Amino acid sequence: MAVQDYIRKRFFPHLWCQGCGHGIVLNSLIRAIEELGIRKNDLVMVSGIGCSSRITGYVDVHTLHTLHGRALAFATGVKMSRPELRVIVPMGDGDALAIGGNHFIHSARRNIDMTALVMNNQIYGMTGGQFSPLSGPGVKATTAPFGNIDHGFDVVKLATAAGASFVARTTTYHVHQMISILKEAISHKGFSVVEIMSQCPTYFGRKNKLGGAVDMLDYFKSHTTAKGSDAHKKDPLMIERGIFVKEDRPEYCSDYDMLVKELQLKGDA
Ligand code: SF4
Repeated sequence: MAVQDYIRKRFFPHLWCQGCGHGIVLNSLIRAIEELGIRKNDLVMVSGIGCSSRITGYVDVHTLHTLHGRALAFATGVKMSRPELRVIVPMGDGDALAIGGNHFIHSARRNIDMTALVMNNQIYGMTGGQFSPLSGPGVKATTAPFGNIDHGFDVVKLATAAGASFVARTTTYHVHQMISILKEAISHKGFSVVEIMSQCPTYFGRKNKLGGAVDMLDYFKSHTTAKGSDAHKKDPLMIERGIFVKEDRPEYCSDYDMLVKELQLKGDA
């Protein structure tokens, strides 16, 4: 299977703005899937609402474009009924951690086998640039013209505390790292979370005077560092990239299957 076989060419050109990071994520995700040799029929992608969620429209696998914040709930239903399928859930920061925040922590707690992508551009792009739970203090947004006063979640810490068995962070600048992390996350048995710092030049970049897409990519290059590096020890404001959690833990569908089999043996089911 070649990379282009995973794309629904009839839906191109895509609707993302010029320079949007989501195209880089789509490209990397398809390359990761192609390198893993996953058959299209074995893969389901489930998304909610937002610019990032449009990814499901462009991939030629089984796709569900569902409700805002509810992608993980739909994905849980898919996985419970067909546990042999691989499930990937691309989400934006608002979709995953505001409207979908409860689904996010409970999916992590259950350690259900799927890959949750949090494409973090620190803003609601599709609806006009409102601040999100990942914007952080001082950020300007349509709903925070004088600067946001909310503190942001740290996706890695939140996912780890909630029980995700694979947690990683990368950026749209670090494409090779992104492909490699996505391959590990998709192959992991359990709930895997990959935060991808992604640029929204149209709203986040413009409102915060960060320049164009290239400047924003340059920011990811200069303000992030490999996990555990000296740069982070010297300057804790440097954001770490890499894999933070990777553990074998009981998986939800397997546990449920085992329970049903035990009950069947006893004649209770
Ligand atoms: S509004 Fe922002 S996130 Fe949405 S497509 Fe445009 S650049 Fe990308």
